[in-house]
Amino acid sequence: MIWLISANSKIYDHSKSFSDHGFIDWKQGITKYQINDTVYIYVTKPEQKIRYKCIVEKVGLDSTNIRKDQEYWVNPNDYKQSLAGSFIRLNLVEKANTKLLDLDSLRVNGLKNAPQGPKKLSGDLLSYIKNNFFLSFNGLIEEELIEIKKSLDLSFKERKKLIENAPKNPKKITVVTYVYKRSPDIVAEALIRANGICEQCKLPAPFNRKKDNTPYLEVHHKIRLADGGEDTLSNVITLCPNCHRQMHHGF
Ligand SMILES: [Zn+2]
Ligand SMILES: [Zn+2]
Repeated sequence: MIWLISANSKIYDHSKSFSDHGFIDWKQGITKYQINDTVYIYVTKPEQKIRYKCIVEKVGLDSTNIRKDQEYWVNPNDYKQSLAGSFIRLNLVEKANTKLLDLDSLRVNGLKNAPQGPKKLSGDLLSYIKNNFFLSFNGLIEEELIEIKKSLDLSFKERKKLIENAPKNPKKITVVTYVYKRSPDIVAEALIRANGICEQCKLPAPFNRKKDNTPYLEVHHKIRLADGGEDTLSNVITLCPNCHRQMHHGF
């Protein structure tokens, strides 16, 4: 099941709570959420946009087994009142911040009223939200999409003129990329574990490092960190350069 719920940032700081903890224990009420349901969160005024995509990790929690989150409530009384009833745990999957998911765009694409209580999503509105949430991961793609849509609205003549006058060398821009930093201690321990022998082909390292004359082996994550693999000794294998290349390219 896929849900749309709403959040009021004047009452609770969802943004900070998610970035500090990665999940929020959310009032369940009488809604029949199930584990692994997807929940999109629409943030009310002044934002009026869908900002978060979450997965239901737990249902039927109560005040004894939820995260204590008083600091994120604007009014302490609201916090106390919030403790009644049952809760679901919403794990944040992705954030978005795009005009394509604001109230006006959602209305054009099938939303009847500004979201309040939990609403099941389906059909065209769901496809619209899914697609635009996906595309907006990358602000660059969103910007490009808007520009392409604009260009499609031009006449052939107008577009041709723009193309003729455009510089032939593409603009170069700077983008931010997130990478995972692996632990140097895991790498060191894995190298010690291998003791100069490739853990795949069991042959000694083909040469030594120039710098310190230690055997040249590389530490490879069996499940990539980017795919959710753990930075642990059991998820790494120490390889000679040949086996490492094979592992990545299969030749
Ligand atoms: Zn090898
Ligand atoms: Zn590797």
